[in-house]
Amino acid sequence: MIGLIDVDGKLPNLALMKISSFYKSLGERVEFVKQGAKYTKIYASCLFSWNRHECERILSVYPEAEIGGTGWDLNKTLPDEIESCRPDYELYTIEDILPRIKGGIASKESKIKKAEIIINAGMGFTSRGCVRNCGFCFVPPKEGQFHQVSSIGELLNSKSDVLILMDNNLTADPNVLDKLKEIKERNLIVDITQGIDVRLLTPEIAKALSEIKHLRSVHYAWDLMGYEKQVMEGIKILSQHVKLYKHLCMMLTGYNTNFEEDMYRFRKLVELGVKPYVMPYNKTYPTKKHHCFAGWVNSRKHTICSFEEFEPWVKAQSNSGQISMLLD
Ligand code: SF4
Repeated sequence: MIGLIDVDGKLPNLALMKISSFYKSLGERVEFVKQGAKYTKIYASCLFSWNRHECERILSVYPEAEIGGTGWDLNKTLPDEIESCRPDYELYTIEDILPRIKGGIASKESKIKKAEIIINAGMGFTSRGCVRNCGFCFVPPKEGQFHQVSSIGELLNSKSDVLILMDNNLTADPNVLDKLKEIKERNLIVDITQGIDVRLLTPEIAKALSEIKHLRSVHYAWDLMGYEKQVMEGIKILSQHVKLYKHLCMMLTGYNTNFEEDMYRFRKLVELGVKPYVMPYNKTYPTKKHHCFAGWVNSRKHTICSFEEFEPWVKAQSNSGQISMLLD
């Protein structure tokens, strides 16, 4: 029996789903690792480097476990015979996904519905790699130059018309218009998980994006200050076709911007009517202020109070005041 361990991530793990398909095609039983069960081979996948300690714990219990994923080893790839398998869409259950949809104000029923949509969706990449080389991103070292890997049709799950499209930079794809046209013609509902590269938008791509159904908002990023002009231009083009309330802009913080620059980007996006979302670099916040800022933006508390009035930041300041009084 083959044992699988999915360390992190919100979505079903594509590599584990392919490993599952491969071994099932050989007549093996495959399941997520259960305590006390015996396995001939164990595979684990870790997406985020801040969960490496969990991989080390896995290896201490199962020294022979094979671990992959961007959080553990950027150079490890699946053997061709596994990579070419269709994902096993039977591997994950609603119960597996539900604990990952935590927080928020959604009811239990709507979370169950969301988990059901996720496990029934088709998922995967039509292209991998990127035309850019952003220093904070794992895509260039892991996936290399932009290249095509499969067609839309190959990714579909017959159980639904939802497609979780994981392409690293769909907007850079020379075939992006054909792919969006195919998504429209197949009447799919798409979740472009990596967002679009708003700096590469043309009116044609923006129009094509507006003509397809999106599972969530259309999201993109403004990571570095130097890209302000291109990002603003891209937002302008997109907003001529997709209403601003459907936009979401990720803001990388803690990489090479300071707090004032983070606040500047936030204000600029809000002024435009775009929803901002803070993404900390490597899940670390340089200061308590950065941490509070992310909470203030992402919880949408900025719509009801100023940052100076945001309770966690008020408390953090009063705590640091008390500490400095104790130290004086
Ligand atoms: S554009 Fe996006 S995917 Fe490409 S290198 Fe930069 S952050 Fe990574």
